[in-house]
Amino acid sequence: MRGLLIALSLFAFVAASPERPLKQLPYTPSLDVPSMDKGADPCVDFYQFSCGNWMVNNPIPSDQARWSVYGKTTNENAQFLWGILEEAADPKAKRTAVQKEIGDYFAACMDEPAIEQLGAKPLKPLLGEIAAVEDVKQLAAFLASEHPRTFGGGWVFGFGSDQDFGDATQVIAEAGAGGLGLPDRDYYTRTDAKSQEIRDKYAAHVTNMLQLIGESAEEAKRDAQSVMAIETALAKASLTRVERRDPYNIYHRMNVAELQKITPSFDWTSYLTKSGLPKTGAINVTQPKFFEAVEGQLASVPLPQWKAYLRWHAVHARAPYLSSKFVQEDFDFYRRTLRGVTAMTPRWKQCVRYVDRDLGEALGQEFVRRTFTADTKKKTVEMTRLIEKAMENEIRTLDWMSAETKGRALEKLHAIVNKVGYPERWRDYRGLEIRRNDFFGNAIRATAFESKRDLGKIGRPVDRGEWGMTPPTVNAYYSPQMNDINFSAGVLQPPLYDPKMDDAPHYGNTGSTIGHELPHASDDEGRQFDAKGNLKDWWTPGDAKAFEERANCVRDQYAQYTVIDDIRINSKLTAGEDIADIGGTLLAYIAWKEATADEDLKPVDGFTPDQRFFIGLAQWACSNTRPEDLRANAITDPHSPPKYRINGVVTNLPQFQKAFHCGDDAPMVNRKECRIW
Ligand SMILES: [Zn+2]
Repeated sequence: MRGLLIALSLFAFVAASPERPLKQLPYTPSLDVPSMDKGADPCVDFYQFSCGNWMVNNPIPSDQARWSVYGKTTNENAQFLWGILEEAADPKAKRTAVQKEIGDYFAACMDEPAIEQLGAKPLKPLLGEIAAVEDVKQLAAFLASEHPRTFGGGWVFGFGSDQDFGDATQVIAEAGAGGLGLPDRDYYTRTDAKSQEIRDKYAAHVTNMLQLIGESAEEAKRDAQSVMAIETALAKASLTRVERRDPYNIYHRMNVAELQKITPSFDWTSYLTKSGLPKTGAINVTQPKFFEAVEGQLASVPLPQWKAYLRWHAVHARAPYLSSKFVQEDFDFYRRTLRGVTAMTPRWKQCVRYVDRDLGEALGQEFVRRTFTADTKKKTVEMTRLIEKAMENEIRTLDWMSAETKGRALEKLHAIVNKVGYPERWRDYRGLEIRRNDFFGNAIRATAFESKRDLGKIGRPVDRGEWGMTPPTVNAYYSPQMNDINFSAGVLQPPLYDPKMDDAPHYGNTGSTIGHELPHASDDEGRQFDAKGNLKDWWTPGDAKAFEERANCVRDQYAQYTVIDDIRINSKLTAGEDIADIGGTLLAYIAWKEATADEDLKPVDGFTPDQRFFIGLAQWACSNTRPEDLRANAITDPHSPPKYRINGVVTNLPQFQKAFHCGDDAPMVNRKECRIW
């Protein structure tokens, strides 16, 4: 195949050359025969058969925790964006308002000498604010001003807006668990030696950071202990990721007075007034028990220890925008220790990420204009339609679901909104001041700008056109509250979506991704929301029980797979994704058969059409992962490791068994077939 040869030479070239700005996205086909290990037996280890040579030929780059087809595509998109940003950063060029915004942000981020010269100076005003806090009672006012300037819920708790679980048409306020410096509450509660070692290294990192802002070694060590004590108390009161999969566990609609009653030591009136929300009505207090712990800490921890906690979070949140010694120390713990990465992300890549994070829909416009064709949109919309039709037929013929529940499942399926490529209306960044010589200020102002937009939604109807992902992102998602599926332009690029390829690998790869999002509407979490996105039980008790039995089949199957050492998949956490993987592949297969019903499909490269569908499927997931990253993902990632996202799926599909003539006792044949859809 000609296309394949071109791709191969290009691939070798890319691998051998250093990263550079790209004028064009490179092409790798969505079925890549040289990446296979044809010596492996597909019925023994299908992932090895499909990805064996990919794994050998694609060692993990030193700045990455894992390397995968998705990761490579993300990296290529980043290099392409780099090219766009370099052009946009030229002050002499004729630039549109959008190009000036993203170009100046990028230029400021790349100006390392200026950043280096400032050292810790940009942190001074915030440290001054912390020093001025005279009483624990003043924490409310302090957090109200600081929360909007920091991403996520790093400071004591998280506060923002969310769609009301009970009324999907409205946005309400949400106060959630947070306040931790480690990636998950489990890091604080596990008692094994490895977890203790990570906690010790974390405390050392906190100590180092505090020394970088001028504390003595002794002071910093003592302060790190205070930080650990407060964070451990908050972590212990936080729900686990598995508990949070049940939406009823994280939905507690209250008024301000009720929340005030849980936390008498925190002045919510002051917090909300200062946040510009004096008339806040309903608040979803996701975890009331967490806020009880916040109260316990506020009432008992002396002010100096709180200030130590605040200083740590001040430097932690701002470290990436400061001089190299802060960036290096931050890297050493979060990337090297936690993920096993050996080299820092190159500056250009980090700056591309910041532009994408802070001005994503401005940068996205430039990306989409150059990469996303009307033809790709048309074809993927059609593919989605066929896969939804397959889901409809599957629901109609299910033998374990009653007519009543089927009716509601179909109603929900028909209500799903498909968003493909990019939003219909672009977000407007006017009002956000970007200065060419102030990276630190830009990052903080952009965060505050986004926070203002987020809080501004409270008390208003939901905007159903909004996207939760920027266009260059290589990913897709389903939102149970919006009841929509979203495929960004970034994920609809080769080798994932490959317009040069025929339908077999196409449906196996992108088709399975589209298919994957549909069962999310009815996985262990999604099934609790109705067609409109309201948290409402629409299942008969018998059908709910039948579903759970089938979900348990999947949980039991995946619980047997080892991630690393003696750590098995936490299948209570991954069940939703595993169900989506199994169901999505089947839907894509059925849709592919429908799309090609009139065609006379022939073998290619010695593989039958059915075999090519499955190889196309497996090759989206080819990857290598560092042991540290596997360990961290086992705690935080709701997806199973890539190998099992393929082998775990095909073992449940008789279509696969038939395609590769696997015997009934082959390892890739699940004796107890798990099937929901
Ligand atoms: Zn998913």
